[in-house]
Formats: sequence, C-alpha cells, structure tokens
Amino acid sequence: MDHREKLYEGKAKAIFATDTPDELIQYFKDDATAYNAQKHDIISGKGKLNNAISHHIMSKLGESGIHHHLIRQINDREQLIRKCKIIPVEVVVRNIAAGSMVGRLAGAHIPINQGTCLKTPIVEYYLKEDALNDPIITAEHITGFDLASEDELTYIRLTALAINRLLMDMFADIGIVLVDFKLEFGRPAKPVAGEPAIILADEISPDNCRLWDKATGDIKDKDRFRKDLGGLVDAYQDIATRFGLTVSLP
Ligand code: UDP
Repeated sequence: MDHREKLYEGKAKAIFATDTPDELIQYFKDDATAYNAQKHDIISGKGKLNNAISHHIMSKLGESGIHHHLIRQINDREQLIRKCKIIPVEVVVRNIAAGSMVGRLAGAHIPINQGTCLKTPIVEYYLKEDALNDPIITAEHITGFDLASEDELTYIRLTALAINRLLMDMFADIGIVLVDFKLEFGRPAKPVAGEPAIILADEISPDNCRLWDKATGDIKDKDRFRKDLGGLVDAYQDIATRFGLTVSLP
C-alpha cells in the first residue's frame, strides 16, 4: 500500500491503483474547492468525515438494491472501489430550488427562488468539463454525443430518482431536508453477470448534497464553504453523528 501508483488526482479525492487491476483506492482529501476551483482551502478533517458519511450512505443504498462501486472502507481516509469508466456527466437531482438553478433563472416570471419546493423532483445533466465550467446539457446531448444509449440514460434517470427517494427518507430520519445532490455513474471494468452495465460511482457526502436542518434551516453542506459561513467541519460532524457514525478528528 505504501508505493501505490496515483492514477488520478481530483479536487477532493485521489485515486490509486491496487494489486488487483479491477479495484482501486479512493482517497478522501481535506481540500475544499468551489466555483470551478477558483476558491480553494484545506479544511482539516473534511476528508475523513466525507469518507465515513459516503461509506454509510452508499452501503445503505446498496442494501436497498442500488448497484454501486463501493467494496469496503479501508481506513479513515480510503475506500476500496471497483474500477469504472466514469460517464462524463454530472447528474443533479433537485427537490428544492437552490444554487445554480436559482442563479440561472433569477428574474424569470415564474417565481423560482432559493427554497421554492419543486412540485416534482428535477433531474438535470451537466457535462463534466472543468474548462467549460461543467455546462448544463440535455438528455439528447447525452445520447447524441454517444455518452450513453437511450436505455442507459433511462436507467440513469430512474436510478437517480430512486436514489433521491431513498436519500430523502434517510435524511428525514435524522432531521435533515435533502435539497439537491449530484451523482456520477460509471461502467465497471469487470462487469458482473446479471448486474446493470452502469453503476453508481464517486461519493455521496455533504460535499455534493445540499442539506438543511429541518427544524432550524441551518446549512449542513458545502455551501458553508461556498458562502464563507464557517463551521463546515462541525456541520459535517453533526451529519455523521446523527447517522450514528463516530469520526475522530485530531
Ligand atoms: N454539485 C457537485 N459538484 C459540482 C456541481 C454541483 O457536487 O461540480 C452538487 C452541489 O453540491 C449541489 C448540487 O450538485 O448539491 C447542485 O449544485 P448546483 O448546480 O446548484 O451548483 P453549485 O453552484 O452549487 O455548484
């Protein structure tokens, strides 16, 4: 494990090779970035919290029949995952208007303000392309650019909506409102018979969800960093504690 080859380093995670070609190590860093990495900081403990929270959430989704890349947690920073070819599309599901959607529609005649409850969840797609600031795209771009077939895209959309229902319940149980979140999907390098060709990958943590305290409205996600509110580690630690997870930080 000491001389592992680093295959990829992203903004909040790094990926390392293992001795098994179809398995990788996902390492959670303490780096926080926002606005396409124009804003950057190191927030001590964030990686450990995201590792624990994401492991908990992915495991629960797995128990509910969602196919995902997680094999097991290795230690407080690392997870063993199945190697996947990531589909370069960020899938966002929204229950309440916030963030970029509100910014994009500001001034529209229909009142889409921060906090507007959506009549039905909205699934959006963004091309994963930092140089272009992850532009929003439609389902037809995805099939037209051959990033996924019609059937695969239907699977992705329905799986994202199923995950939304499961996550909403999981967070409601701990007094949290799930505002929105981002998912990534990939094609496993070593497919398993009977499994879908596409599985959930990446992470699900307060870094890629918007989470509001149901009673107080307190923000418990990366908006604390985006908006310079402070208290990010305390907020993530609160989510971990409510899930019954113990994450010891220095
Ligand atoms: N999100 C993410 N990575 C991105 C963009 C968005 O994890 O590169 C998450 C974000 O945390 C939020 C949801 O996707 O929970 C919707 O984000 P939005 O489109 O509002 O973009 P933002 O302006 O917040 O990046």
